[in-house]
Amino acid sequence: MVLLSLRGTPLPCGDRQLEAVLFDKDGTMSHSEPMLVALAQARVFHCLALADLASGDPERHRDLGDLLHRAYGLAPEGVHPAGTMAVASRDQNLVATATALVQVGLGWPEALAMAETVFARTDALHGQGSERRPAPTAGLLPLLESLRLAGVRCAVISNDHVEGIEAFLAAHDLASYVQAIWSAEHQPRKPDPAAVHGLCAELGVAAESCALIGDANSDLRMARAAGLPVVLGYRAGWRRPVDLDDAFLQLDHWRELTVVPGAVNPWE
Ligand SMILES: [Mg+2]
Repeated sequence: MVLLSLRGTPLPCGDRQLEAVLFDKDGTMSHSEPMLVALAQARVFHCLALADLASGDPERHRDLGDLLHRAYGLAPEGVHPAGTMAVASRDQNLVATATALVQVGLGWPEALAMAETVFARTDALHGQGSERRPAPTAGLLPLLESLRLAGVRCAVISNDHVEGIEAFLAAHDLASYVQAIWSAEHQPRKPDPAAVHGLCAELGVAAESCALIGDANSDLRMARAAGLPVVLGYRAGWRRPVDLDDAFLQLDHWRELTVVPGAVNPWE
């Protein structure tokens, strides 16, 4: 019977064996904050430059900068772990950007077109070529290795696009540990609990035999609503403290989580 154990306490899946662990990416598997800060700053820079070309009003410049920082959850101490940059998909961030532009007086079509230009200019920062390519969070690899040894499947559930998820996995030789991904291109997206069921179906496992680990309350509540027996909050992915709902068990380092093996690997 394979189980996870948190700080020495076993986490049972009812009377089932643990068959799969679903991981969020940004702020959970991946230390994404430096890349997201750079991306948010670049979006603010290009947005202000384009808006200034259109009006040159210094008050509007200041207001827009302020609105964009708040919309993205960008502060001197880092990205807000539950903010738009950290949690939302690219198209949701694009709408947030256009909404900030509308608030300083642009019409919606103009705001949307400007936001699209800004994103086209800055998308490369989010890709594989970024100098701030996100690193895995400390201690992730040994956990993935022990899950593989115990025959537990792993999957990524993220609102990043397939390309971004695959680039992260490939850059750190993690792809062989991951048997399925659920991205912003899949329907429905997280935090719809049906996203969890879709991913479980791709893995060929029952939701009742799965664990999910994420760094946002929306991830954790989705997993609980989907009927997953083990739902864990990961708090070490951001510079700012991650404020998670006390109703969920939480960890601050992957070493707190161990795999208790005991069964023959059913996937080999
Ligand atoms: Mg996350």
